[in-house]
Amino acid sequence: MQDTTATRHSIIYGCLWMERVGLNQGTSGNISVRVDDGLLITPSAVLYAKMTPEMICKISLDGPPSADQHPSSEWQFHQSVLQARPDVDAVVHAHPANATAIAIQRRSIPAVHYMVAAFGGASVPCTGYALFASDALSVMVADAVKHRHGCLLANHGALTVGDILDRALWRMQELENLARVMFLAEQSGMPVILSDADIAETLTSFQDYGIRNTAP
Ligand SMILES: [Zn+2]
Repeated sequence: MQDTTATRHSIIYGCLWMERVGLNQGTSGNISVRVDDGLLITPSAVLYAKMTPEMICKISLDGPPSADQHPSSEWQFHQSVLQARPDVDAVVHAHPANATAIAIQRRSIPAVHYMVAAFGGASVPCTGYALFASDALSVMVADAVKHRHGCLLANHGALTVGDILDRALWRMQELENLARVMFLAEQSGMPVILSDADIAETLTSFQDYGIRNTAP
């Protein structure tokens, strides 16, 4: 993608959308998009409603930002995920209530629903715990999404990826719904977990599933 005003607007729109649908609040989430000469990422400590295209930070794909740049404090795991996944152009991070609650229990999400396949396999993994913005967290997150399109971050939140931003946002909403229905199902009994064969069959049928690319 190119670093255009439209690209920057799509990041702000994604933040506002997450707030509107209840996936995030305040300044806790962040979004990055790979561009030709680095990555665009939401700024640190700015309310979504006050964000303007000029405030979106452009940083390099490796190495720390310069002193005059103020990217999200989580820039490091955005960078490491984009490095680890050349097929991914967008990373979304949020603290949605149900997904975060499961991350607090330090559980992965098993195949409680066929939509788990939207994450590329039979589960959505949960990382170990490390301090936010730390090297250790960045390494664990990049590792967790090496073979999945999303993960939970222990006692912290969730992260999803996509070849385009819309798909990463769609996955964040699906991840939160998976966590919610898992909790509901557990309230009155033990959920039945789909088999690896069921998920393999779903993955095959998922070739054309999801959302269309309507990016500018
Ligand atoms: Zn966070």
